[in-house]
Amino acid sequence: MAASEIDFIIVGGSYAGLSAALALGRARCRVLVLDAGQPRNRTTPHAHNLLLHDGDAPAELAARARQQVAAYPTVQLLEARATAAEKLPDGTLQVTTAAHGTFAAPTLLLATGLRDELPPLPGFAECWSTSIVHCPYCHGYEVADQPTGLWMNGEMVAHMVAMLLNWTRELTVFTNGPATFGADVRALLAQHSVSLEETPVAALLHTGPQLDGLGLADGRALPLRVLYAKVPWQQGCDLPAQLGCELDELGLLRVDELNQTTVPGVYALGDNCTMMHQLANAIGVGNRVGGLLSRDLILGRTLPMRP
Ligand SMILES: Cc1cc2nc3c(=O)[nH]c(=O)nc-3n(C[C@H](O)[C@H](O)[C@H](O)COP(=O)(O)OP(=O)(O)OC[C@H]3O[C@@H](n4cnc5c(N)ncnc54)[C@H](O)[C@@H]3O)c2cc1C
Repeated sequence: MAASEIDFIIVGGSYAGLSAALALGRARCRVLVLDAGQPRNRTTPHAHNLLLHDGDAPAELAARARQQVAAYPTVQLLEARATAAEKLPDGTLQVTTAAHGTFAAPTLLLATGLRDELPPLPGFAECWSTSIVHCPYCHGYEVADQPTGLWMNGEMVAHMVAMLLNWTRELTVFTNGPATFGADVRALLAQHSVSLEETPVAALLHTGPQLDGLGLADGRALPLRVLYAKVPWQQGCDLPAQLGCELDELGLLRVDELNQTTVPGVYALGDNCTMMHQLANAIGVGNRVGGLLSRDLILGRTLPMRP
């Protein structure tokens, strides 16, 4: 597909990006998808809370999605990381890759996800998404009713504890240093017999991806089978920053009701612009944005020809 023939460039060919590509490609728009192949859930053995695919392996889902979208000659998929993006003086959006050069289109969709920053504690990465999990809706059902830890500090502990008690009553909060929440949160923990450990965590005890417990700085070892951890995240890449797209106070891309970022012609979809971090949501928003943008393109071409 020559650069001049592209209607939409989509950076990020995972759930949100491929869903948009499917809607656009079926509407006979010409789409280029660039994907670096690092979906956020790539380390989890089974994807859940996704109707029709509950329990499927993410790698299988990704391969099937790519195969289905690639069947449309209107869509070109390239395995490539986009390293630069720029809006040219005439409004064209230009995207550069190391392997395949530079592409340009009138509209750019960023479906670039988020990047989780795991703590450098040995074993954390190995257990991540198997016995160290981030979300009860994704994994809570499978790990319910086991000795469980919550690695978290701050006032939001109250909310998370209130949620997690639905999945387990054997809960300990690890603040990894002095608790930074008030007496009301302590009272909530006491009310529900939730233990509180403020001693810093020194080590993870684990057998392969299965957590066995946490070793504390004072030498104690507390057995656990499951740990919920809220890890910090960043935007999946720096293209939004290069383009000057604004972030909100949470670090998500600011978008309007049509998912356009603060840079006209640049749209964001999926995890990078919402707190609804779920596969179904990423697929749904890709479908909606793809449908709306294709409609605008089709009507824009057709309506001026009316008498
Ligand atoms: C451990 C874990 C387990 C999860 N399990 C579940 C679950 O069971 N059920 C559920 O509903 N949700 C789950 N989620 C959430 C789910 O993974 C996300 O909501 C979903 O992946 C978001 O889709 P996305 O398309 O927005 O982003 P992603 O799936 O993260 O995809 C972003 C894509 O963009 C690519 N990319 C980024 N920058 C560039 C660039 N510059 N050039 C080219 N490509 C680029 C990346 O390589 C990646 O392929 C889980 C999340 C985590 C962290």
